[in-house]
Amino acid sequence: MNTTSSTTANSSRPNAFLASIEAPVRKIERIKDQFGKEAPVSEYFGCMTFGLAHMREKLPKDAYAHLIKTLEHGKKLPKETAEAIASAVKEWSVSKGVTHFCHWFQPMTGSTAEKHDAFISIQHANHSELRVIERFTGSQLIQGEPDASSFPSGGMRSTFEARGYTAWDPTSPLFIIEEENGKTLCIPTVFFGYHGQALDNKTPLLRSVDVLSNEAVEFLKLVGDVDAKKVQTTLGAEQEYFLVDKNFAALRPDLLLTGRTLLGASSARGQQLEDHYFGSIPTRVKSFMQEAEFELYKLGIPIKTRHNEVAPSQFELAPIFEDMNIASDHNLLTMEVLKRVALKHGMICLLHEKPFAGVNGSGKHNNWSMANDKGENLLEPGHTPHQNLRFLACLAVTLRAVHKNAAAMRAAIASPGNDHRLGANEAPPAIISVFLGSLLENILNSIESGKALKATDEQIIDLGVSQIPNISKDYTDRNRTSPFAFTGNKFEFRAVGSSQNVAVPMSFLNAAVAASFKESAAELRDLLKKKKRDEAVMELIRKVVKETKNIRFSGNGYSDEWKAEAKKRGLPILNTTPDALEVLKDKKLTQFLVDTKVLSKEEIESRYHIAVERYVKTLDIEHTTLLELTSTYIIPTLEKQMEQLGEAHEAMSSAVLKKLHKARMTQFEEVFADVLTTYETFKAKVEKSRKGHDEHKRMWDIVKDLQPASFALRDAVDAAELLVADDMWPLPKYREMLLAHNLS
Ligand code: ADP
Ligand code: MG
Repeated sequence: MNTTSSTTANSSRPNAFLASIEAPVRKIERIKDQFGKEAPVSEYFGCMTFGLAHMREKLPKDAYAHLIKTLEHGKKLPKETAEAIASAVKEWSVSKGVTHFCHWFQPMTGSTAEKHDAFISIQHANHSELRVIERFTGSQLIQGEPDASSFPSGGMRSTFEARGYTAWDPTSPLFIIEEENGKTLCIPTVFFGYHGQALDNKTPLLRSVDVLSNEAVEFLKLVGDVDAKKVQTTLGAEQEYFLVDKNFAALRPDLLLTGRTLLGASSARGQQLEDHYFGSIPTRVKSFMQEAEFELYKLGIPIKTRHNEVAPSQFELAPIFEDMNIASDHNLLTMEVLKRVALKHGMICLLHEKPFAGVNGSGKHNNWSMANDKGENLLEPGHTPHQNLRFLACLAVTLRAVHKNAAAMRAAIASPGNDHRLGANEAPPAIISVFLGSLLENILNSIESGKALKATDEQIIDLGVSQIPNISKDYTDRNRTSPFAFTGNKFEFRAVGSSQNVAVPMSFLNAAVAASFKESAAELRDLLKKKKRDEAVMELIRKVVKETKNIRFSGNGYSDEWKAEAKKRGLPILNTTPDALEVLKDKKLTQFLVDTKVLSKEEIESRYHIAVERYVKTLDIEHTTLLELTSTYIIPTLEKQMEQLGEAHEAMSSAVLKKLHKARMTQFEEVFADVLTTYETFKAKVEKSRKGHDEHKRMWDIVKDLQPASFALRDAVDAAELLVADDMWPLPKYREMLLAHNLS
């Protein structure tokens, strides 16, 4: 009998735990002011960016004027202007110690991509002498041609025209990424194919921002803002994430390969006591946050809040809102900085929507609003009756947008990670509905019934022609269960996944609202033929309020009653990614994207194919990892435990003890058998599914057949974890990964 194997303890786990709680706090060097004291943030905020303010300062007057014209009218940038900008950018970059530049773009993988080029170039000084100089031309700034054949195009590029192009997006500032041994200038770009097809997530976002502005301006003019020129969409993206010590991650192939734990029994103490939310932030984590914020400030990203989230080891940060396009780039950069800085602090930052079963997952609340060129928030009740009428009109337009396109909005947030989160009693359900709060509900209800609002009510003022509510800003109640909630002066799209590129859901939302502005403007034009302006606007609002009743819901979105009620109302209930992706194949449901020119038919189709492929590949990786973990970590551990139990049993001479011990053995054997059975069943299903070549069919196989089998295997292994000697268990446990911060 082999006695050594049964007594070998797994020492890496306790070592990882000790290393985790003893990790030193990392100190950083901050920027000093002229007196050698720590400089305030305002002094270095955005010092690693080159945006319009820099250009105004550094460019010749007419070059800057050309650039502004380009931005305002979408004109082509003259060559000389491009050269002038490139030269200013180069001078600034080189003065900061930058050696390389890259076009930074957002391929449909969901993350960002970059290809670096050095500034150096060879100059022929005279016949025989070569000199190295720093060189950066206008065309290098404006256009790149990365070998794009490895980025997903969803079939839009055949191999003979596999080229992709990147083009500078001058609306988003250039920025420098600093690493230990060098600095790189990043140029935010769009990425497109030979025929101008969008191969990225940024292009549709830019299109959506434009079309929303145009349609909103037309609408506002009818409402009485005759001098409206531009409407800006704004975004503040709250970002949730988990932090886990690197030593644990190194022992967990699932975290390394899939970003989430595929196995792991719940910790006796998880989030039940709800004592983590807004609790004091552990020192090590705080020093990580402080460095991350320092880096983000240098990149001009206005991070405002930080706090603990509901689950242990879960945290959140939120910026001050910005212009949509910039906020979207900034959120991508924030995710990159969080991951990079976490590693420096010996931790990994998990942006996955559901890294741990049984505790809350992570989302990204997209706070969305619109502002006119005076900077007035269109979704903010104002001080004058006109502002309030405009507010109600824009609110109605948004309601209509979500009501008509709820299915597409659900499709825009579909991902395998988000499937674990939506509807899991911790996050908004997979059903899109809108929460307005009781005061607004009352107002809309009175408008609908045509009843006069009580003039005695302080929140209401009488306009004579119509009742316009005078609403104070902070009146809204909160509803955490709603996927799309009005929060006083903005909507909060809360169902967006934590790892997602916000450009996708935001371009869908903007397109839906643009289409709704257009439709509403047409109706308003008709009404204006018969009625005075305020009355016509009120009439339109009344019509939209009636029409959109179904999408409004103030109750508990987590409840089963709501699911039943939503079904009765005929709202789309799309529980999984495959369900949601089918929406992209439906011409009627995606027509608003085509009409607003945010995505063409071909682009929608390509996005559907990419999403299907990504779903299948992501789950394939998870399934392979789960099988490998079970066969190379779990089953061998159970064998050792079995052996030890057998040896112990042999050694017992007391009949009483033997009898009691037998019960423990039987229990263990049952669980072991469960692991083996569920493993074999799952393995067979995976192998069978892989023989299929039709991706669409595989996607449905996976969600209907493979996923339930994988959950059964997980349950069996998690039950076994609770019966195996602690020193034998090979994977860091939930309590260690989630609660270690409390000791550091
Ligand atoms: P809460 O957690 O209560 O929702 P936070 O302060 O964490 O509040 O987040 C609110 C977010 O909403 C911030 O990012 C904030 O900048 C953003 N926000 C506020 N006003 C607007 C607006 N007009 N447009 C877009 N986002 C906004
Ligand atoms: Mg919020």
